[in-house]
Amino acid sequence: ATEFGIDEALKALGIAALNEGTSTGSDNFSSGEVIESYSPVDGTLIGKVKTTSKTDYEKVMSTATTAFQSWRKKPAPLRGEIVRQFGDKLRESKEPLGKLVSYEMGKSYQEGLGEVQEMIDICDFAVGLSRQLHGLTMHSERPGHRMYEQYHPLGVVGIISAFNFPVAVWAWNTALAWICGDVCVWKPSEKTPLCGVACQHIAAEVFKANGLPEGISCLINGDYKVGEMMTNDGRIPLVSATGSIRMGKIVAQAVAARLGKSLLELGGNNAIIVTPDADIKMTVIGAVFGAVGTAGQRCTSTRRLIIHDSIYDKVKNAIVDAYEQLRIGNPLDENNHVGPLIDTDAVAQYNNALEKVVAEGGQIIVEGGVMQGEGYESGCYVKPAIAEAKNDFEIVQHETFAPVLYLLKYTGEVENAIAIQNGVVQGLSSAIMTNNLREAERFLSASGSDCGIANVNIGTSGAEIGGAFGGEKETGGGRESGSDAWKVYMRRQTNTINYTTELPLAQGIKFDL
Ligand code: NAD
Repeated sequence: ATEFGIDEALKALGIAALNEGTSTGSDNFSSGEVIESYSPVDGTLIGKVKTTSKTDYEKVMSTATTAFQSWRKKPAPLRGEIVRQFGDKLRESKEPLGKLVSYEMGKSYQEGLGEVQEMIDICDFAVGLSRQLHGLTMHSERPGHRMYEQYHPLGVVGIISAFNFPVAVWAWNTALAWICGDVCVWKPSEKTPLCGVACQHIAAEVFKANGLPEGISCLINGDYKVGEMMTNDGRIPLVSATGSIRMGKIVAQAVAARLGKSLLELGGNNAIIVTPDADIKMTVIGAVFGAVGTAGQRCTSTRRLIIHDSIYDKVKNAIVDAYEQLRIGNPLDENNHVGPLIDTDAVAQYNNALEKVVAEGGQIIVEGGVMQGEGYESGCYVKPAIAEAKNDFEIVQHETFAPVLYLLKYTGEVENAIAIQNGVVQGLSSAIMTNNLREAERFLSASGSDCGIANVNIGTSGAEIGGAFGGEKETGGGRESGSDAWKVYMRRQTNTINYTTELPLAQGIKFDL
């Protein structure tokens, strides 16, 4: 037993010492190898999950494909009712699931609960949306004709997710896909497989209680080789993949080779521009939370601060002071600000980034290092670090998934800062801190930030489910969650109906017989 009541949470979620990693609902099976899930919090082995073999995968796909045949015929508002019930189940499971997220991934318990809240919020959003899957009507150029467009379910949606949002990203996809009439096959990250098993249990209970077919929600487990089964599978019209740019490039090519659709949510290299008109207090809160929250393991984490030279020292000193207050330790203890990285490989990448920035001519102004001693036995706790750097350093161009913040200086007009902010291959989140309306509008204009998310007087990190979420350039271009992101989960059809006894052709073409 651990001191955090995690055993109780695991029990409530139906997590055993050894779990089947393949599931089509209440039918759970697996014949692949075993993955062990260790907590980065204290290094404890939480549980084991059996992975999905090719034979298991075939069984999943056949069940999912059959489930789709009937699920697509259920009216969308009735599918919404099922998602409503799923949201209610998540409300009941919020505490144990939040705890498991925190313990398996290493984020704070508050953030674990916040992740489950995001799942609940997207369910609510999807329920309303289930009555609003609107198409348009158009006027036909032909007399006695009616023209409109409609959206139909797509089929089996494959979901590949990253470790850092081990449950919410699945829900962003499934809640929308389900109301759209699709069925889902999910491969969670091999670093957080128990979160996947727990979510599948919750979903399966809802589908079962409603007498719905097995396979509307399916789970597969394993590493990239299991992911590849989906990317190469022509029965999956849409693969939604969240993770690194490296992974996205491989997935995009595999899916494109069979002319499937992919929805890509990849890495970011997010910056906050701090202008002479910035509110320094707000800047410090936004920047520090953005850089060290979730130990810098959010796709929207703040990696770069682009500060005007006239206020550079003032902002730098305020941030360095704030870093001195940070408490690093067990994320289940609410007094701590910074928890562990996901594993010791991530620690190696963090060390590498700090070495590289110095080798490229950067200056460390808040020293990093790996924490040692009592409470840090997992070897995954690191000190948030800050380096003064240049935007064209190779390491600054690269997303290091750890709490390393780069300070960059700009001079002159805000356009110079925007050029630095846009001068990376990623295009996820961006922010400007300013009370100057002209600067803010320039940042948001067509020649401003090139990111999918651009904020004014808010940091880069975190987003609400009501807006479409995603980024441009090598972040992959996908949009999930709110606004009209649902459209990617459906196929679009244009319909023209002739209610006359004539057959006039479009464009006035005559074809007399
Ligand atoms: P990762 O790329 O290592 O793994 C992500 C997922 O892809 C895992 O499930 C993995 O098994 C799978 N995968 C890897 N190679 C594959 C292949 N060839 N074919 C099929 N599947 C494959 O990423 P990670 O370390 O788990 O997550 C961190 C990364 O995710 C960061 O770059 C972060 O910015 C990004 N991320 C982006 C968003 C977003 O919305 N843009 C959200 C969360 C995380």
